[in-house]
Amino acid sequence: MTVRELQERLEFYAAQYSADDDVVVQLSEPSVGITSFTNVTYAGSGFDWDSGRFWITPEKKLLSKEKDRDAELPAVKIIFRETELRHRKLRSIIKCPKCEEHLMKSDKYCSRCGQRIKIGEYREYIR
Ligand SMILES: [Zn+2]
Repeated sequence: MTVRELQERLEFYAAQYSADDDVVVQLSEPSVGITSFTNVTYAGSGFDWDSGRFWITPEKKLLSKEKDRDAELPAVKIIFRETELRHRKLRSIIKCPKCEEHLMKSDKYCSRCGQRIKIGEYREYIR
């Protein structure tokens, strides 16, 4: 969402409802009745490395539920050409997309870095 889109929605909301209503952030947690939320303590520009973005700071600390390595990534499959003699018996190898550890076709996670691997889906490279 851009600042312009947010501005348009805020102007529409203020015209339809009230400019004095609280601004809240929806939480991804179960609730009964009203959707769970937290209040906003700050909205505005960031500075230094955080510039170029409009920041909304929630009152409660928000953490992402999943670590990056829990999202499935396709394995990297390296296919060797027939002319590459040293790999004549080994026609292809499968590697972790994050750390390049060799994987077995049955692996669901990389044994070195813990990255979750999508079985049967590969980014293929021919050598
Ligand atoms: Zn790995």
